[in-house]
Amino acid sequence: MTDRITAQRGPHLRCRGWRQEGLLRLLENVLEVGERPQDLIVYAALGKAARNWQSYTRIVAALQRLGDDETLVIQSGKPIGIFKTHPLAPIVVMANCNIVGQWATPEIFYDLERKGLIAWGGLTAGDWQYIGMQGVIQGTYEVLAAVAREHFNGDLRGRLVLTAGLGGMGSAQPLAATMAGAVLLAIEVDGARAAQRVADGRCERLAETLDEALAYCQHAQQQQQPLSVVLVENASTVYTELVRRGITPDVVTDQTSAHDLLYGYVPVGMTPAEAADLRERDPQQLERQARASLVAQVQAMLIFKQRGAVVFENGNNIRIQAQRGGVADAMSLDIFTERYIRPLFCKGIGPFRWIALTGNPDDIATIDALIMTHFAENAQVCNWIQLARAHIPFQGLPARIGWLGHGERTRLGLLVNAAVREGRLSGPIAFTRDHLDAASMTHPYIGTERMRDGSDAIADWPLLNAMLNCSACADLVAIHSGGGGYAGYMTSSGVTLIADGSSEAEVRLKYTLDADTGLGVLRYADAGYPLAQACAREHELDALNLEER
Ligand code: NAD
Repeated sequence: MTDRITAQRGPHLRCRGWRQEGLLRLLENVLEVGERPQDLIVYAALGKAARNWQSYTRIVAALQRLGDDETLVIQSGKPIGIFKTHPLAPIVVMANCNIVGQWATPEIFYDLERKGLIAWGGLTAGDWQYIGMQGVIQGTYEVLAAVAREHFNGDLRGRLVLTAGLGGMGSAQPLAATMAGAVLLAIEVDGARAAQRVADGRCERLAETLDEALAYCQHAQQQQQPLSVVLVENASTVYTELVRRGITPDVVTDQTSAHDLLYGYVPVGMTPAEAADLRERDPQQLERQARASLVAQVQAMLIFKQRGAVVFENGNNIRIQAQRGGVADAMSLDIFTERYIRPLFCKGIGPFRWIALTGNPDDIATIDALIMTHFAENAQVCNWIQLARAHIPFQGLPARIGWLGHGERTRLGLLVNAAVREGRLSGPIAFTRDHLDAASMTHPYIGTERMRDGSDAIADWPLLNAMLNCSACADLVAIHSGGGGYAGYMTSSGVTLIADGSSEAEVRLKYTLDADTGLGVLRYADAGYPLAQACAREHELDALNLEER
């Protein structure tokens, strides 16, 4: 397949209804906004939309003939069959990249992948929920806002944020940082990608040398002006050089695909093409070199921390990769979720998204206005919507992310469904969320690190979440586990709903959105978080164990 795939726009249906058409458009959309659509790769180095092109074509054909009372079963990006179910059942269920415990290693994953037996769906690639950097940007912004509140009196003006990796997700960092008022220096090893980020406006300046980059940053810091700068270099080289020079940024993180040393993290002294070449010739050598570079980078991060910087991992497994390379204290670096996101998850607040399926940006503006009117009491989301309107360009089908909590998501879903029914929106809206949400993620080094009750590695929660969302009549439900460098580290679940204005959609939205966030609140209440227990009481969730803790 060589033609660039784009999501169909407009009112014309190729399927038997909007539920099926909506999911087909979302599948097309993840490739439209993805990083290497020719290889079906959406983001995070290996996260795929379908197993291969034959599977893609068969999924499209299956969605086109799928009835409302049928369910399409997909296994690791390959369509398996269609079953007669009932009109309120999900129309698509998926299990992507789940390998039993002792076998869930990167080596076995790569072997199964080479044999064409499995595909890693990332979090939102394999279940067609990815919306480009729009999807991660509020999370990236909220983390920086939390860093500002906790460490810098709420103000990042004049502060330098050092990061690396401007890939699918990482490219949200420059905009998120400048929206928060900071100066950001990003190190990106891929020259073409760095130039592209500047060309498409996601990063403001491209620096030729480290000295030039630092000069831009220092000037902007002195002027208290937000600025984003990208330097084409290896993160490991620059982080260690800054340590050598005695330069300590205020905030340090990293968003290279450090989770995967074969496909994701480029060693010092190599271009991405040279790394790809070595991968073919001698993968073990590539892995050794990548780990050595990553180890040096994390050692530099630890020194930045000692020197007073706020340093945290951004969910790419960089600490555990360094620990495996012998950095004994790598895990002493914070993880962004535990530190900044968990209090939100306790209230079911997380990365909720909506997508205009006809491709009409006015629909997103209408929903923005609904939020400003109906959620006026939620200052955080209203502030976000104003910032997003001013700064975030649409990518693919127009979409918005808004961190809403238990009860709020249901309210918005029902308001939007009514607006579709009454013709105030030009067509149906899809609702979905990131897998990194309250009930839907077990990853002991990202979402569930250092849980209060020690339940970090228990993967029952995302499995229960998926089953509950099926029972609550969602349109698509998926269970994912980690692939590549994430193999054996995580299990998560995804859910998508199509608000087509119908009364059936109203039922699906109400049951699913309440169940999805409700289970999240109970997951944290069960782990002993008072914030979650209070939230469960406030919302009168029918919790069975609150008195125990
Ligand atoms: P990506 O593979 O699209 O991009 C990674 C980028 O890092 C590429 O541009 C690559 O050229 C660059 N890179 C690789 N090695 C480098 C090095 N040594 N120095 C400098 N640049 C280097 O991945 P992505 O989608 O942007 O995701 C990045 C990581 O973040 C992944 O590990 C992903 O799983 C994780 N992630 C975290 C969150 C979160 O919520 N915080 C969300 C999504 C993804």
